[in-house]
Amino acid sequence: MAKLHYEGYGNEPATVLVREKLGSANVYAKNAQSILNKATGFINAYDFTLNPYRGCQYGCSYCYAAAFSPNSKMRQDWGNWVIIKQNAAEVLGKELANWDKKHPGKPASIYMSSVTDPYQPIEAKQQLTRQLLEVMVSYQPTLVIQTRSPMITRDIDILRQFQRLRINMSIPTGSESVRKDFEARSPSIKARLHAIGTLKYSIPCDDNHEARFSVTVTPLLPTLPDEQAYFISRLEVADRVVVQEFHASNGRSLVASTREDALVLKRKYAWWYDDEEKSYQQFMAKLACLLMDVQIMEGKEGFGYE
Ligand code: SF4
Repeated sequence: MAKLHYEGYGNEPATVLVREKLGSANVYAKNAQSILNKATGFINAYDFTLNPYRGCQYGCSYCYAAAFSPNSKMRQDWGNWVIIKQNAAEVLGKELANWDKKHPGKPASIYMSSVTDPYQPIEAKQQLTRQLLEVMVSYQPTLVIQTRSPMITRDIDILRQFQRLRINMSIPTGSESVRKDFEARSPSIKARLHAIGTLKYSIPCDDNHEARFSVTVTPLLPTLPDEQAYFISRLEVADRVVVQEFHASNGRSLVASTREDALVLKRKYAWWYDDEEKSYQQFMAKLACLLMDVQIMEGKEGFGYE
């Protein structure tokens, strides 16, 4: 397939045009050939990953997904563009019907999303993730949703209908000042904690519904010493807390890699990062001490459904 050229990112005549501006982001729309991608690497326990969008307006400083941008200019401008997969719901319906035909009685397992946030700001208007949930619910896949957005509570009416659901709320730090440095455009910690509580108490957990809730403290960012105990106590709302260090930074495209922006920021937090391993272990020890009834997991295993 011919390489696509995105308006504003390159000297060649653009083959994909800006549809609109949303905040600082260029919004593009295009059709996807497929929407369920074979899950590999970190999340290869799933059958598929599902990314309604490409790009992410949250633009977190450490985001490894930037490595999967369409070109190097877009990689550098991570957070300032998003591509809507406009036919995603239609394609998903066909792909799930196909899976069902080939694997009767074995619903697919799906991780949404691996390289975007399905509830980034554009979702408020676009409702593409909501459309995908509407398609999925009739096939009852095992579904894991990874987000840092309280917007997910908008879809409680559909989420309640899934039989095997895990929601991972990403909260890498308990300190607002640290959040503002590393992920300035993301929702507040308070809003995320409130959202995971709302989800937990609104989605049934009974013989027909196995709803589970994780907080992913990934990558583990510093939490100020006098805020750690309070933050950890708030994590009790989850049945699982997942901790993970930064991805390695290798600067290659198509390989998950921590962005340079985060590496620069790490220098500001020398009190934590000068001995990163020690900070990590001390935080893990506090989790173990303070969260008696919560499963604490590290790295890849923590991202599974079970
Ligand atoms: S919300 Fe997730 S996908 Fe989006 S920029 Fe942040 S880490 Fe990357």
